[in-house]
Amino acid sequence: MWFRRDFRLQDNTALYHAVKEAQKRKEPILFMYHLDPKFTSKDTPNHRFFFTALQEFIKHCEAKGIFVHVIVGTWKDAFSKLLDHFPDMTSLYFNKDEVGEGHKRDNELERFLNQKNIRVRSFDDYNIHHANEVKKADNSIYKVFTPYFKKWNSLPKKAPVTVNDQKIKNNSVKDDGLYNKGVETLSKTIKKLPAQVEISQEEQAFKLLQSFLKDKVDHYDRFRDLPAANGTSKLSVFLRTGAISARTILYLIQEKQLTSYSTGMDTFVKELAWRDFYNMIYHHYPNSKSEEIEVKYHQLDWSKDENLLQKWKEGNTGFPIVDAGMRQLKQEGWMHNRLRMITASFLTKDLLMDWRIGELYFEEMLHDYDESSNIGGWQWAASVGTDAVPYFRIFNPITQSIRFDHRGEYIKKYVPELSRVPEAFIHEPSNMNKTDQKKANCIIGKDYPEPIVDHSLQRKSAIQMFKDLT
Ligand code: FAD
Repeated sequence: MWFRRDFRLQDNTALYHAVKEAQKRKEPILFMYHLDPKFTSKDTPNHRFFFTALQEFIKHCEAKGIFVHVIVGTWKDAFSKLLDHFPDMTSLYFNKDEVGEGHKRDNELERFLNQKNIRVRSFDDYNIHHANEVKKADNSIYKVFTPYFKKWNSLPKKAPVTVNDQKIKNNSVKDDGLYNKGVETLSKTIKKLPAQVEISQEEQAFKLLQSFLKDKVDHYDRFRDLPAANGTSKLSVFLRTGAISARTILYLIQEKQLTSYSTGMDTFVKELAWRDFYNMIYHHYPNSKSEEIEVKYHQLDWSKDENLLQKWKEGNTGFPIVDAGMRQLKQEGWMHNRLRMITASFLTKDLLMDWRIGELYFEEMLHDYDESSNIGGWQWAASVGTDAVPYFRIFNPITQSIRFDHRGEYIKKYVPELSRVPEAFIHEPSNMNKTDQKKANCIIGKDYPEPIVDHSLQRKSAIQMFKDLT
């Protein structure tokens, strides 16, 4: 049983089937993780978080008498060594990737193992509905979310699958040499790449879900867009490592919906469907990490300005709401959804910078990095994807700030140099006169930057850039 980005023992489809089959056939299971040095050689907050989460998961399993062996190398080397070491291996179980490099690797590996008479059992697990489940009557895919969601919502949903920890343990084998070597390699990796935050396991993820359902979900639609309100679930990091499954999340909401109703729950379910929508889109547009889905925008003339890019990354643009978002990302490895939209729009429409640069930066920084959702979010903000924001409807960072962080609470939390700026100026501190600046202990140009661009001019240039191609 190969764990990949599904670090949990409950409601794990491949694990459930592997244990069931092993019991039936009275065969042992070797639990494993494949560590490709290609990933650990890159020191990013995303990798630090993910590999520390892996280490914690392995420790968590070990405490339950379940041993996850780490095998190292390219997939071909690692699986060849595994087969040499365990010539009796008959099957490989895993939850499959439908997108990106993982998808390609799965296909190649399956061919490789089939040639060696190893049975490959791979399962749809990461999403509620997978890439080919929600289709139009003529079997084509939906490119617009609203009709997609209507169909998504009408389809029956799978219930979570549970398996007793004791049963997993009973079938778990340990190869001391291989296990210790794996633990050692991983420890060395984590020493180089320690995570900056504490990482929780599936039990805590489940508790977070329960408390979100009890206290927050009913007001989700009212507060989800207000970054200072802390009104979202923050489950994305757990979905990223697989500490909780999307299926379980939906199942618990549906249980709650049996006895109560709220528009908050409906809105939240829709957000889960966005995750599936972007997975489906990336599966059917496999080049969309590097290529605009809208072909007519392949030739857009994005600018490249290292100096402006750096200011955006560091949160020194002179637009408080943008700076607060970028600093939250840097400090926490997570950013509120409204801020992801504002900062992505700012990079592409105010700095006229290539969305791919932003997508890559978010990939490095986000603990909840999900390739499909990130590409989807960036192509949406850059107006180049499917069902994206129209290019002429450009976010104004000042009005967004007034609307979603009216009193500047979120801004003040992440941009402390603005903490004494009065509410009247918090969205545009450069409007303060010299006396106000002194009083606020914030001299513009010294303590906090002037805006690095003129939004109304940049807006016109962005619209023109798109118009030139339409
Ligand atoms: P909640 O509001 O509590 O939502 C619950 C879950 O629904 C989320 O955990 C997520 O799985 C899903 N979800 C919510 N909104 C979206 C959405 N717009 N698209 C897809 N799924 C959604 N999400 C990621 O998980 N990883 C990413 O790398 C990522 N990159 C993004 C980049 C950009 C430019 C944008 C605009 C959005 C991106 N999102 C990404 C979507 C969204 O911002 C996050 O899922 C959300 O902020 C996570 O916080 P939460 O768990 O509190 O969300």
